Amino acid sequence: MPELPEITVICRQMNKEILGKQVYEIRVNQPKCLNMPVKAFAKIIVGSRTRRVSSKGKWLFLKLDSNYYLLMNLGMGANLLYFKPDGWVPEKFQFKLTFTDSSGFTIRFFWFGYIHLVHQKELGNHRLTANLGVAPLDGEFTKGFLQRLLAGRRGRIKPLLLDQKNIAGIGNVYIQDILFNARIHPNRVASTLSEREVGKLHEATKTVLQRSIEKGGLAYEMDFYGQKGNFKSEDFQVGYKTGKPCPACSNPIEKIRTGQTASYICSRCQRS
Ligand SMILES: [Zn+2]
Repeated sequence: MPELPEITVICRQMNKEILGKQVYEIRVNQPKCLNMPVKAFAKIIVGSRTRRVSSKGKWLFLKLDSNYYLLMNLGMGANLLYFKPDGWVPEKFQFKLTFTDSSGFTIRFFWFGYIHLVHQKELGNHRLTANLGVAPLDGEFTKGFLQRLLAGRRGRIKPLLLDQKNIAGIGNVYIQDILFNARIHPNRVASTLSEREVGKLHEATKTVLQRSIEKGGLAYEMDFYGQKGNFKSEDFQVGYKTGKPCPACSNPIEKIRTGQTASYICSRCQRS
């Protein structure tokens, strides 16, 4: 499932390839992904030009010159692929957008995703994106922000960090190494973290995500050009490394159940 690094990589590549292009047509094979009937959707989007692509959490926002936004959420995973003018076009897709220069992109969800068209004025009312929390690589994500978020919270740290309404973009993949780097057990009660631990958690969040972006995202996710990322399983420190030695103390890494999710931890470095 794509998390912040993969979405960030796609966002940068989209900005490089499709800005200022005019929409020629759309093809929709899964109308349920849209937030309006296909005809109405096409009427708004065809003819408009692309302005800028931004991302928040697991969502991509493609701004159009008509003041509409094309919002895309890749759900549990999807291939969002660029095609060049006269280039190869993927045969299987749920959504295809072609520009007047014959380039475009296709989206193929592995399970389900969303493709919504929302006017700028209505963005604040868009149920799925309006309540997204702070993005961990934005300026707003400061140590002070994290301290305020966790203060007085009696819930466990891991689900709090995964809740997209608090912080947008971290999922069960990168959280493993983030918590390990900060030496925090996923079951710790949020309010019991010391100021020093919050500081380490703040640093670790940025470092782990940034490291993956530099490597082009996960090796099992494709970017806008259909290339796989370079962040491979050996690049994880504890994530998905059951039984392997902890990189800090050599204690075997354990896989444990934490609420709804699985966690990979070193029980010596991350005390509960
Ligand atoms: Zn250890």
